Amino acid sequence: METAHKAGFVNIFGPPNAGKSTLMNALLGERLAIVSPKVQTTRHRILGILTEENYQIIFSDTPGIIDPQYKLHSRMMQQVRSAVEDADVALLMTDITDDPAEFATLIGALDLKTPKILLLNKVDLVTDKERQAELVKGFEEKIRPEKTMLISALKKINTKKIVPAILKLLPEAPAFYPDEDISDRPMRFFVSEMIREKIYALYEQEIPYHTAVLVQTYEELPHVTRIRADIIATRETQKMILLGQGGSMIKKLGMQARESIETFLGKKVYLELFIKVRPKWRENDNYLKEYGY
Ligand code: GDP
Ligand code: MG
Repeated sequence: METAHKAGFVNIFGPPNAGKSTLMNALLGERLAIVSPKVQTTRHRILGILTEENYQIIFSDTPGIIDPQYKLHSRMMQQVRSAVEDADVALLMTDITDDPAEFATLIGALDLKTPKILLLNKVDLVTDKERQAELVKGFEEKIRPEKTMLISALKKINTKKIVPAILKLLPEAPAFYPDEDISDRPMRFFVSEMIREKIYALYEQEIPYHTAVLVQTYEELPHVTRIRADIIATRETQKMILLGQGGSMIKKLGMQARESIETFLGKKVYLELFIKVRPKWRENDNYLKEYGY
């Protein structure tokens, strides 16, 4: 039977360290979207978009608003309100060992009208069931969510149940964003261009013309973006030049490329470069396709 397509915005609220980034990673994993700038809105920061045949969930947060240091004066509060009202579902996320009263004060200030799912994260730190029940009660008394879930974003406990819980609360709607807006292809392209730029800067004339750069892995982890790229050369001798004495040149290339990618992304980058020799890659149709030419 055909099910209706659902789509909507899910705003995540949680103090620093609640585990928001870890959760995004668990929910979206490999599909963690690198969202193109045109998808961003001023009020939300889009963290990731989960697109499946029957639904699209846009996860966002509203930076800063739940920071304990943040002083909510009225004008800011208005802005927060409209951001809050834009969402279809609110995920309220806290470390289960944090103080319920403090969390409730933060959440209460938001005056949320959207359905709330309370995510008590880091349940792996509280193994005693009775203690868990007590903590749930403490939070529920103060927050009154539609649903409470005990999860561990890190250990992936109950994380698979989050999306079905969200879908129950989402309206029927077509997808908001087409696939091409949220693929990581543009990012991979920019990254390979930045590596190529450094190859041009560091090596003698002919080398850049005989090499291609292929980004093999692009992985957004909570604190670092992990990138693995192959530099494809046509001959062993080019590989030796690319490596340099004792690997000195590739090291330099890696450092400079990493710096420019970090500046571009505004994020810490872990960059691994590998040199591969593919004698005929320029003539071979499949290679060309694979390497995006
Ligand atoms: P954010 O500031 O809300 O984005 O939080 P992060 O996702 O950066 O997580 C903050 C810290 O809590 C990191 O050290 C995570 O590894 C850790 N963390 C996140 N989820 C869990 C969990 O389920 N269990 C435990 N024990 N630690 C977690
Ligand atoms: Mg974070």
